[in-house]
Amino acid sequence: MIAQSYLFAGPKGIGKRLLADRFARGILCLGEDKKMVPCGSCASCIKAVSGNHPDLKIVDQSMLDGSIGIDEVRRLCAEASLKPYEAIRKVFIIDGIDRMTEEASNAFLKTLEEPNRSTTFLLTADRVMKIPRTIISRVQVLKCNALPIADCEAVISSVGGLDGAASSTAARFSCGAPGLVLGDGGKEYLALRERALSGLERRTFFDSEAGAPRDEVIQMLEIALTWYRDILVLRSLGNSSGKLINADRSEALRQFASQNTLETARHAIEYVVTAINEIQENANTKLALTMLGARIGNR
Ligand SMILES: [Zn+2]
Repeated sequence: MIAQSYLFAGPKGIGKRLLADRFARGILCLGEDKKMVPCGSCASCIKAVSGNHPDLKIVDQSMLDGSIGIDEVRRLCAEASLKPYEAIRKVFIIDGIDRMTEEASNAFLKTLEEPNRSTTFLLTADRVMKIPRTIISRVQVLKCNALPIADCEAVISSVGGLDGAASSTAARFSCGAPGLVLGDGGKEYLALRERALSGLERRTFFDSEAGAPRDEVIQMLEIALTWYRDILVLRSLGNSSGKLINADRSEALRQFASQNTLETARHAIEYVVTAINEIQENANTKLALTMLGARIGNR
């Protein structure tokens, strides 16, 4: 028995969208196996994989302008009220329901309240707190957790094509969310990481990245978090480089750790988290980085 709507909830980059895609294909699959595992070879699976299944619709906030607005949701709700074209069910994936505007959420709630029996919604969200309780109460929440580092490394080397030290570094950085470092096979991430860590090492980061695009700044600040986290680890556990995310930079990290206290490293992490939140909420990136540089100082 398939519920009307499911929410895949958990941290960014752990594969919620992959799960939703696979689940959708499983629902639509015409194969013999009825355990929701897509066969991969029937007409329905082939259409779904190529993005041409008439009964599978995807709304992806990252393809829009970062949020899902009322027009998109009206279109979706109108379509959800229709019968499937060829399958038994229509499946809608809404990737990033936590990025739905308030107006759009209210419109979507009406569709959830008066469900069409042949429609299934698969929702994903990084930030469950941002979803109205009225929506949460009408969906089955499937909590997705971070993967063990060894599994991340396997995903990164098989999907991303990174190998050896690069995949191991990327896996440590991903903190259980390999999607964070994938994308173009991990190369873009490695370049950003290099830029962020070199800037932090040379103490030029906050000035030199002030003009970078918002998304890049956020990603680099997330990398900066791992840097300060490593400093904190060295301060509290001593010279245990086995526990470092950025183990390839252990020498520089040790030098920084010797100039920091536990307290200053902890504050640096708080300041970076605040800056990430502010920039995500549309604060001016240049201003946020300047403020952050002033708060962290030369640590
Ligand atoms: Zn199939």
